Amino acid sequence: MGVDGTAGREVCGREFRHAMSTSDLPPEFFYYPDAVAEGRVQRSEAACTACGRRRGWISEAILYTASQLNDPVVCPWCIADGTAVSRFGGTFNEIDDPIEPDVATEVIERTPNFETWQDWSWPTHCGQPAIYRGQPTGSELRADPAVLAAFVDLLAEEVDWTQDHAFLAQFIDGLGSGQTAYRFECPVCAQPVMRWDCD
Ligand SMILES: [Zn+2]
Ligand SMILES: [Zn+2]
Repeated sequence: MGVDGTAGREVCGREFRHAMSTSDLPPEFFYYPDAVAEGRVQRSEAACTACGRRRGWISEAILYTASQLNDPVVCPWCIADGTAVSRFGGTFNEIDDPIEPDVATEVIERTPNFETWQDWSWPTHCGQPAIYRGQPTGSELRADPAVLAAFVDLLAEEVDWTQDHAFLAQFIDGLGSGQTAYRFECPVCAQPVMRWDCD
């Protein structure tokens, strides 16, 4: 599903379409630029639980609240401007290191989360949250030596089998089926920052 430039309405059994203005497009998230491409923000006629409006887009992001609100369905605008969190409390993300509060808040309260197997917090680099760039496959990792090196370095900190090259190769080939790599990029120095988890 993508931005197709039109929005349909059914009226008297017929579908009317009108051209979308740019204000119909969902807001962009600096730290999660592919939220629409990855389907975490998607087309939907559902009403937003926070603002009550049907703006054509809904986020699948989970708002973690103490009150365990039932299936909050919020629009990306209410995530981006902080309405969802100020209305219901809670957070969308945790962050790794203490960093400048305004920047941390943008990730914690105003950026949709993405699906992970385990709970872990958003990485930082150069005192900034890293930009989330998706889940590379084994061949995508191998195609980018800096990303591959960052991933192997990360693994080496956590497991003791990275010297077993056959097993390491198998592990990388199997990314996406049980074990998943997550690629981030520092907005300051552009260095790749990796995370991984498994089911
Ligand atoms: Zn809303
Ligand atoms: Zn950096």
